[in-house]
Amino acid sequence: MRHGKVAAIALMCLAAASCREGPASRAEPARSPSPTVAASSATRDEHSYGNPEEIRVTHADLDWDVLFDRRILRGTATLSVERPAGGRATRLVLDTRDLDVAKVEASRAGPSWASAPFSLAPPDKFLGSALTVTTPEDATRVRVSYSTRPEASGLQWLDPPQTAGKKDPFLFTQSQAIHARSWIPLQDSPSVRITYRARVRTPKNLIAVMSANNDPNVKRDGDYDFEMTQPIPSYLIALAVGDLAFAPVSRRAGVWAERPVVAAAAREFGDLEKMIQAAENLFGPYRWDRYDVLVLPPSFPFGGMENPRLTFATPTVLAGDRSLVSLVAHELAHSWAGNLVTNATWPDFWLNEGFTVYLERRILERVYGSRRADMEAVLGLQDLEKEMATLPEKDQILHVDLTGRDPDDGFTDVPYEKGALFLRQLEAVYGRDRFDRFLRGYFDHFAFHSITTDDFVRYLRANLLDTDPRLAAKVPVEEWIEKPGIPAVAPRPKSDALVLVEAEGERWRKGEKPASAIAAGAWSTQEWLHFLRALPSPSPPGRMAELDQAFRLSASGNSEITNQWLLLSIASGYEPAWPRLEEFLTSMGRRKFLKPLYEELVKTSEGKERALAIYRKARPTYHPIAVATVDKIVGWRG
Ligand SMILES: [Zn+2]
Repeated sequence: MRHGKVAAIALMCLAAASCREGPASRAEPARSPSPTVAASSATRDEHSYGNPEEIRVTHADLDWDVLFDRRILRGTATLSVERPAGGRATRLVLDTRDLDVAKVEASRAGPSWASAPFSLAPPDKFLGSALTVTTPEDATRVRVSYSTRPEASGLQWLDPPQTAGKKDPFLFTQSQAIHARSWIPLQDSPSVRITYRARVRTPKNLIAVMSANNDPNVKRDGDYDFEMTQPIPSYLIALAVGDLAFAPVSRRAGVWAERPVVAAAAREFGDLEKMIQAAENLFGPYRWDRYDVLVLPPSFPFGGMENPRLTFATPTVLAGDRSLVSLVAHELAHSWAGNLVTNATWPDFWLNEGFTVYLERRILERVYGSRRADMEAVLGLQDLEKEMATLPEKDQILHVDLTGRDPDDGFTDVPYEKGALFLRQLEAVYGRDRFDRFLRGYFDHFAFHSITTDDFVRYLRANLLDTDPRLAAKVPVEEWIEKPGIPAVAPRPKSDALVLVEAEGERWRKGEKPASAIAAGAWSTQEWLHFLRALPSPSPPGRMAELDQAFRLSASGNSEITNQWLLLSIASGYEPAWPRLEEFLTSMGRRKFLKPLYEELVKTSEGKERALAIYRKARPTYHPIAVATVDKIVGWRG
C-alpha cells in the first residue's frame, strides 16, 4: 500500500524481527503457482494463531449474502486443507475476529459432511480469537458457517450520503495487515498462500468486484462469481460492492468506479498501459492477467491497496492532470514486489514496500522521465528524514520488531523509503544492468512465494554480493537491515528542478521579488510541495495571504498541495484557510492527510478546539482504521 510520500499512498507496514529463525527452505526456483509449496514451514508468524506447519489451508470456497441493512456478510467459508507428508494432525487453528460462528463441519472427500467440534478462544486485543476445529485425521475440507459483525475491522459499510452517487450504499474491504480474519475465518498470515473462489449475492442493482477475475462486461443481476487461481496471501483478498461502472483504458487494463466518477478516473489513469509495459520491460512479465483500478469513495483510509488484479485507490489522486499517478505506479509495482514475492511475516514488511518504492520510481522514470523520478526520490528522502527524527531507535530498523504490537502500528516511512534507499545503493554499487538482472532473477526465483528477510539476505549474498566481494565491501547489509538510522553510505537523491525551486523561494523570502513574480507557472505538484515545505513555519499571515492571492492555494483541487498548504496555514495561524481546512477534513478520510493535519491542530489549545469541532462532524464518515488513529491524536472521549 502506499501512504506517505509525495504522491503515493501506502498503507501500512510493519516489520519486525522476532520471527526470523525460519529459513524458507527452497531447493529450486518455483516458477509456477503452487499453493502447496508456499512458505517455509519454519516461519513463525507471531500475528497469527494458525498452525500451517501441522495443517495448511490451500484454497477457500467463499459464499456470502451481502446484507446492507444489517451491515453483515453471512455465509460459508469452505477451506481445503493439506497436512505435510505423513502428518496426521486433527487440530486446525484459524484466525477470526468478531465473527459469529454458527457451525463447523468437516469432509473426508466427496459430498458428505459431518459436524466438527470447535471452540472459539477469548479475543486478544490485536489478534482476535483463535478458532480451533477438531477434524478426522484424513479430512480434506472444513466448512465454517458464520456471519460478520457490523464493527468488523476489515469491512466498511457506507451509507448513500458517503458515496459519490448519493443513492446507493457501498461496501469495501481492507484486509492488510491482519483484518482478513474479521470477515473470513482462515490462517491469516502472509506466509500462507491460498487460491479462492467466491459467490457473492448483493442487491440487484449493485455490482460486486474482488481481487480476482472481474468481468468488465458483467451483467448487473446481484449474483456474482469469482475465481483467483494464483495463490495469494490472505491480506490480498478483497471485495467491494456498489453502484459501479467500468471504463477500459487498454485491452487488459481499466477503471472501476462509482458511475459519476468513472469517466474522470479513466482519464486520470490513461497511462496505465504504458506503466504496465514499462514495468514488464524492467522486471519481467505481468503475471496476473488483467490490471484494473477501483476508485473508492473518499473515506478509503489509504492511498492505495495493491489487491491483485484490482488495485483499490483513493479518489484524492484524481487531480485532473495525472500529477498524482505515482500512486498507481506504486500499486502496480506491488504486482512484483509484495504480491508475487511476499513478506512471510509483518516484520519483513520492508521487503514488500522498500522494493515497491524502488520499482515505482523506476516505472515513473520510464514513463515520465528522470526529472520526475528524481523529484519524487528527493521528496521521499525528506519524508524519511523528517519522520526518522521522531521515531524511537527500534522503529528506525528495516527488520523491525513488532513483538506484542498491532502490525498496523509499524506503519512508517522506514520500510518504504529506507528500504528503497538500500536498493538504490545496491544499484549504485553494482551498476544498473547488473542490479536489474539480479532483480529479475529474484522475482523469478521467489515467484508466488512468501519469504523472510533472512531468505532475501541469503539470496542477495549468493546472487549478487558474493559474485564481487570487492564491491560487496561497500554495502553494509547488516547495518541497513538491522540497525537504526540511515547508513552514511546511503545515496543522496538529487533533483536539479527542485534546486531551481529553492532558489526561487529564497528570492521571494528575501523580498527580492513579489509572490506574483515567482516563476511557478509550469510547476508540477512535486515542485509545489518542495516550495511549500521549504517555507518558514510559521510564516507571517501577511506573507501567507500574498502567496494565497497569487496562486489561490486555499482553493487548490490537488490533495497533496492542499495538505501541505493547510499544514503551513495551521502552523501560521492563517485564518482565511479555515473554511478549506474544514472542507478538506470532512470530505475525505485518507489517513496520510488526516494524521498530520490533526497533529498540527492539537499543538495549541485553540487548534485543539477546532480539531474537535471538525472531528465531531467528520468522525462518522471515516474508516475504523482512520478513526483509531485520529481518536488518539485528539484524545477523543465521545
Ligand atoms: Zn505499498
